[in-house]
Amino acid sequence: MSGRRIQAALSAFITRALDPALCLGCAHVLEPGQYFCDACGLTLECVPQPCTLCGLENHSSDPRGSNPVCARCLYDPPRWQKLIAPLIYQGIGRDLLIQLKFSEGLHLANALATRLVEYFRRSRPQPEVLLPVPLHRERLLDRGYNQAFEIARILSSMLDIPLDTRSLLRIRHTESQSGLSASKREKNILGAFAYEPADVYTHVAVVDDIVTTGSTANEISKTLHRAGVSNVEIWGLARVLGIKG
Ligand SMILES: [Zn+2]
Ligand SMILES: [Zn+2]
Repeated sequence: MSGRRIQAALSAFITRALDPALCLGCAHVLEPGQYFCDACGLTLECVPQPCTLCGLENHSSDPRGSNPVCARCLYDPPRWQKLIAPLIYQGIGRDLLIQLKFSEGLHLANALATRLVEYFRRSRPQPEVLLPVPLHRERLLDRGYNQAFEIARILSSMLDIPLDTRSLLRIRHTESQSGLSASKREKNILGAFAYEPADVYTHVAVVDDIVTTGSTANEISKTLHRAGVSNVEIWGLARVLGIKG
């Protein structure tokens, strides 16, 4: 080994010893650039054969990918045109998303988006723009950041899709959706958004952290459709199972 290579290897060793990459699930030391050890990675489970409308497992799908929409959505479709929220909201994934929402764990947005980006990259056609679900000003001041914006910012740079943070606005402060039933969520969020586009879009992806009942996504889809956006996709990192939008 040449002197220069020994020096480079030594410096990489020292950097790692001083600042090792640790698994976000169990703090096990990792190779640089990794976020999860193999064991924790396995627990980050994604929805198998998801329905392209609700993101829940589509039991009527087959390996050739025919029947992309589940029977429930065929009967009672949501307002949006496509939904991608790959991760099942459980275990370590759930813990990390809670940290991201409530304790400024912004590096977690990067770790999860890096892990899930291929699900968004292979969707065709790609949307013209990413619109993060906005927080009301009061909540933004309170929390100091919007986790949906952080995720959208990372996906925008990974996928090279423009990010627009001005067009979709939250015009009404609403009670937190956590703990509310599906019908109460729907009422709570009614009329909470406005759309004042900076540009003319026909195909957008609305980005959020978690899709729960889909009531926020439905309300935003209504607002966007009224303004002429015909193709609304909902992009989240994780899907809560057992609740249909
Ligand atoms: Zn681990
Ligand atoms: Zn479905």
